[in-house]
Amino acid sequence: MNIIIFGPQGSGKGTQAELIARRRNFPYISTGDIFRYHLKNKTELGQQVAEYVNTGQLVPDELTNKIIQDRINQPDCTVGFVLDGYPRNQKQLEFLSQITTVDYAIVIELSDQEAIKRLSGRLASKCGLSYHLEFNPSQQAGICDKCGDQLFRRDDDQPQAIAQRLAIYHQETEPLFAVYENKGILHRVNGAKTIDEVYQQIEGVISQAAG
Ligand SMILES: [Zn+2]
Repeated sequence: MNIIIFGPQGSGKGTQAELIARRRNFPYISTGDIFRYHLKNKTELGQQVAEYVNTGQLVPDELTNKIIQDRINQPDCTVGFVLDGYPRNQKQLEFLSQITTVDYAIVIELSDQEAIKRLSGRLASKCGLSYHLEFNPSQQAGICDKCGDQLFRRDDDQPQAIAQRLAIYHQETEPLFAVYENKGILHRVNGAKTIDEVYQQIEGVISQAAG
């Protein structure tokens, strides 16, 4: 069973993809994780990725495609896999459809307003702990419970950076949904719920369609 999880930043798609993978014993495939694996192990692909990452450039589609193909060809993927963060655009989708089939494309829907609310509430501490103003606040406002340092907002979670990522998602990723919709394998779930409620919706889609 090959599954893709789509969703904007803040929708919890990574968490959901990992949950499904773990509970169904499928490999969880995220482009971010694979890049880190190749970089850490200094593989040939990793050396190619490093050239872009170290100079602050986006990894080109051709290289991302090659890395995904390499991962999907591993023996553990024969039972199925859960993809997170790929395909991200039309070129990647075309490549994916040449190398494998997709059984379910699941979109975790979340309004921009809600995504911004979730992401901009994130706070970090130098010690590595993270908090959320609303969902996981520190005991004393603005101060880390563990190390007592001032909490801060990461560059990635600044309003402008969030708006930019959402815009790219709308422009490049959302148009892909029509492709899977035409194949009858696109399912939308409501992301403005708890982690467990979103998971139950996805599980409902997968079990129903399988039965
Ligand atoms: Zn701290």
